[in-house]
Amino acid sequence: MNRAFNFSAGPAVLPYEVLQEASQAALDFNGLGMSIMEMSHRSKEYEAVIKEAQADCLKIMNLSEEEYSVLFLGGGASLQFYMVPANFLINKANYVLTGVWAKKAAKEAKFVGNTNIIASSEDKNFNYIPKNIQVEQDADYVHITTNNTIYGTEYKENHIPDAGNVPLVADMSSDLFAIQRDFSKYNLIYAGAQKNIGPAGVTLVVIKKSWLEKGRKELPTMINYETHVKENSMFNTPPCFPVYVVGRTFKWILKQGLEAIEANNYKKANLLYDFMDSNSDFYKPTVTDKEDRSLMNVTFNLNTPELEAKFIEEAKKRHNMTNLKGHRSVGGVRASIYNACPIEWVEALVRFMEEFMKENK
Ligand SMILES: *Cc1c(COP(=O)(O)O)cnc(C)c1O
Repeated sequence: MNRAFNFSAGPAVLPYEVLQEASQAALDFNGLGMSIMEMSHRSKEYEAVIKEAQADCLKIMNLSEEEYSVLFLGGGASLQFYMVPANFLINKANYVLTGVWAKKAAKEAKFVGNTNIIASSEDKNFNYIPKNIQVEQDADYVHITTNNTIYGTEYKENHIPDAGNVPLVADMSSDLFAIQRDFSKYNLIYAGAQKNIGPAGVTLVVIKKSWLEKGRKELPTMINYETHVKENSMFNTPPCFPVYVVGRTFKWILKQGLEAIEANNYKKANLLYDFMDSNSDFYKPTVTDKEDRSLMNVTFNLNTPELEAKFIEEAKKRHNMTNLKGHRSVGGVRASIYNACPIEWVEALVRFMEEFMKENK
């Protein structure tokens, strides 16, 4: 098959070998004579699938099963915007605004209670990560968004705020397992799968068990994390097939290790950023502070919107490079180069950028 150079921000590229495994399992899972989609989620075979995915997730994160629970929920990362405050916002919460997704998270918290915005990069259209943030030490938690999919900024590990004794919560939807992180800093991490770890339809939540005791008790059943922790994500039918694919992606990650994945991601991103920095009269990265540049979503402008439109069109027409259009709210160009995007795709994109520049300078 001729794979397109797919630079979609999400749902996004998946490892080809995972797609092959998934297509096999879609027809016949482990020789059982039925599709993974046709099996009871209560069967011992499926239970093994979900348990292995949970264990592998913690293995990648270097966290223990005694301390943390791994949940596979529906509703997208967007439902987590509400579930986090519903469970844990009692007096007040702190939010850092680094983009539209972070703002949406803060908006849901306001439905529940007192929400303080302790830092924001909205003054410069979210093109940087706020530094040296003071977290209010009497807050119930502080919420950050580690990678800002639309604006192309990312917290590098040294810029994760020091929350002190305040529980740290992170939306890692678009850079989970792209770089090494100290995951033990967090009380709760969530991620919609469809950016970096799997297909749409499942949301990963990793939660510190000891925190649950501090949460609100009187909650609708499905909104209460305790329900899902107690039933090990089997209170109701989990998104069985997406969970399976996420599990295979975790195996793919474990095989390489996060250190190698991170190194490869830096290599890929730097190919693009370095090329643009040396041709900055033609290509302009939207994030100028180099250490804040995302390894996953490389956002840039050309000199006019007309030239950007031509760039996107020619990339598609000549080389089948797709989904390079920036988010509708910001325009410009965005190349999303998640874990599963091969370095050869990035090299091809840089070659096209060179070719396009020569023709249009
Ligand atoms: C895409 C995205 C979301 C929204 O995820 P859904 O699963 O569509 O709800 C939230 N946060 C970030 C950082 C994202 O990139």
